[in-house]
This record gives sequence, structure tokens and C-alpha cells, in this order.
Amino acid sequence: MGIVAPRGTFDIMPDDAGLWQFVEGLVRETFEKCGYREIRTPMFEHTELFERGVGSTTDIVEKEMYTFKDRGGRLITLRPEGTAPAVRAFVEHGLASRALPAKLYYMGPMFRYERPQAGRYRQFHQFGMEVMGAAGPEADAEVIAVPLEIFRAMGIQDVVVNLNSIGCPSCKPAYRQRLQEAYAPVLGRLCPSCKSRYDRNPLRLLDCKSEECRAALPEPPTIFGQLCPECSAHFDGLRRLLDKLGVGYVINPRLVRGLDYYTKTTFEYNVGGIGSQDAIGGGGRYDGLVEECGGPPTPGVGVACGMERCVLAAQANAADQEYQAGMDVFIVSLGEAARERAFELAHGMRREGLAVDFDMIGRGLKAQMRYADKMRARFVAILGDDELATGEATVKDMSTGEQTRIAQAELAACVRRQ
Ligand code: AMP
Repeated sequence: MGIVAPRGTFDIMPDDAGLWQFVEGLVRETFEKCGYREIRTPMFEHTELFERGVGSTTDIVEKEMYTFKDRGGRLITLRPEGTAPAVRAFVEHGLASRALPAKLYYMGPMFRYERPQAGRYRQFHQFGMEVMGAAGPEADAEVIAVPLEIFRAMGIQDVVVNLNSIGCPSCKPAYRQRLQEAYAPVLGRLCPSCKSRYDRNPLRLLDCKSEECRAALPEPPTIFGQLCPECSAHFDGLRRLLDKLGVGYVINPRLVRGLDYYTKTTFEYNVGGIGSQDAIGGGGRYDGLVEECGGPPTPGVGVACGMERCVLAAQANAADQEYQAGMDVFIVSLGEAARERAFELAHGMRREGLAVDFDMIGRGLKAQMRYADKMRARFVAILGDDELATGEATVKDMSTGEQTRIAQAELAACVRRQ
């Protein structure tokens, strides 16, 4: 075997590219319809951005970043997520002093050094949206609802929305302390990473998946009842808005999510049928992040969804759906003179906006027909000596098998009519 793709990466081959293009088109169309505009940030950033903007106690920063020194000695990281770069650009380009809220969306590859498995890769793709400059629960509700629309249009069914609030700088510290008190007697039974997080970020103890940690304290205290009046009103407001939209959700007090910067709302989408990596997206509110990245105090809320997992879920839900665009006409030619004419005709019809291809390598009639079928051509136009002599083509409708002879000059119009 020669050189293969690096572990945790994969090729999107032409047979699957149709589905990816479908998803990408849907994402763009949906976001733009909702007033979001695309932002494209670099694939790499200064490492410090993620240390500050994602948080030093997160899995991402502790152990998953692709970090290296470039030839100029700068510490660089391939982007592991899209929010910190979007916030960096928001601050750098002074968007805070323009019309707010800034409603941004992005789509593209992210990089994390994780243990690869089904649905978990080292280069993967996310689409996401960010609202900066809107403090009210309408922004949270929109950010939760818009991806649901994309999932529905992709044919993904039964998405479960998990919802939680993790408070704000005025009520979170008391909850952190309460959690530390609750976990203190069982500290010795926790896994090594929870032990190290006990001081630095005790909320993360809640979402540890290890059996020992779950068993050590099966019912940790929840934040509800301890939220400050503002956070409590925000959460109630969000729930009311989701109810109005008919968006169902499950309140999950363990949902704190990985990133350090979240305040108030956190949420995640889960689906069945795609294995253990069943979260297809998640997000939350990050009211302190813009300031953390050097901008003016600006509330923010966003979501990121994993495109590979969405594609897996769409395939699981509608296995036989066809996403390949196919071809309007394939021109079959027999002999060299016919091949030249096919070349000319194909290019002419393409200029008229049709998807047309022709045989370049002088295959026999049967092989060309098979190829046309594989390319999912709607029509085949056959050029033999006879047709060349009369300036005609034999046109076969591939869905009915019906054959007619028409003038070559009318080919484009005939195909377009059907
Ligand atoms: P996060 O930025 O960690 O909140 O991730 C948001 C979404 O991106 C997750 O819900 C997944 O759908 C997807 N995702 C995160 N990490 C990976 C990965 N290593 N491979 C594939 N998808 C991922």
C-alpha cells in the first residue's frame, strides 16, 4: 500500500460529494434566510486565542490541539472550533460599533487530536452560527431553533434537544462551591481528570462519562433554585419561546459542555442510530467571551454542528435518497469524426447551461451507454455515421427507453423541454 490519508482523516469521494453539497447548500440557504452572513476565518490562529477563548481547563486546550511553531517561531494552532476565531474577527474588525446584533455563520474543517472512532475524527467539519450583541432569550431560542430546521430538511428525525443553564458570574460561583462541597467526601473515588478539575472547574465533574465518577455521586446538586433572578428569568423566557415554536426539549442538569466560556444557556442535540457519538451539535451563551478576547462587553450566543454526524444521521434516516446531481445529456459517438462533433456539441450545450458530457476515449457503444447510465444521464444522444451525414442525433430518453431522431441543432431545446 502506498501513502494513505492520516489517521482520523478521510476523503469525501465523488459518490458522497453530492450529499455534502446538498447539506452545504441547505446550511447556507437556511442561515441567509434567517439574516445570518458568512464569516470565513483562517484555518490557523495564534495558540493564545484558544487558550483564552476556549479555556485552559477544557479537553480541547489540555490535550486535543494541533499546535506547532511556524518557521518564524510563532506558536500556531489549527482551529479546533469556530467561535473563538469569529469573536476574534468581531473584535479585530470593530463589528461592535456597527449594527448589532452581528449575526454570523461559518462552515468548514476543524482539527482536534482525538481518538478516532465512528463519528469522531481529527479533521472534521462544522457549521455554526453566532449572535453577538443580543442579551435576551430570543437570541438563544433562535440559535437553538435554526439548526433544527436544517436537520429536518436533511431528513434527520427524532432530534432530542438537551437544555440547561449554568448561571452567570453572579450565581455560578455559589453553585461551584456547592458542587465542591458535595463532591468533597467522594473525591478519592473520582477519575484522575475529575480530581484535577475539582479545583479548577468543578462543573466539569457533572459531565464526566466514567462509571466510577457517576457512581461516586449519582445525584449531584443542580443549579436550579440557585440561579440569580436574571438567569432564572432568562431561562424561563427561553423555555417560553421554545414552547411557542413547538420545540420540545429535555432539561439536563449535567449538560455543562466542554468550553469554559459558557454562561446561562447550554444545549446539545442528540440523535439515535449513529453510534456512541450521538451529539450532532451543541452550543450556548458566552456573555464574557468578547471581553475576554479584548472587545467591549458584548453578550453572545452560538451553536456548532458536526457535519459528518449530520451526514451519518441523514443516511441512517433516508438510506436510499439520491443526492447526485446527474447529467442532462451524454453524447455517445461512434468513430473519430462523430467524436469531434460530440465534443463541439457538448461544449455548445454547456454554454447554454446544460450538464453535458461525451466520450473522450473512443469506447464502444455498449461501454458508452453503461457509462452514461452510471453518470445518471437523463438523455443519451447517439452520433454515428448515419446521423453525421444527416445532421441529426438519435436521442434516447433513459427513463422511458423511448428513441427519436432529431436535428442536432434542436438537441438542447428538446432536452430542456422534458
Ligand atoms: P463542540 O465544538 O465540541 O461543541 O462540538 C460541536 C459538534 O461538533 C459536536 O456535537 C459534534 O457533532 C461535532 N464534533 C465535535 N468533535 C468532533 C470530532 N472529533 N469529529 C466529528 N465531529 C465532531
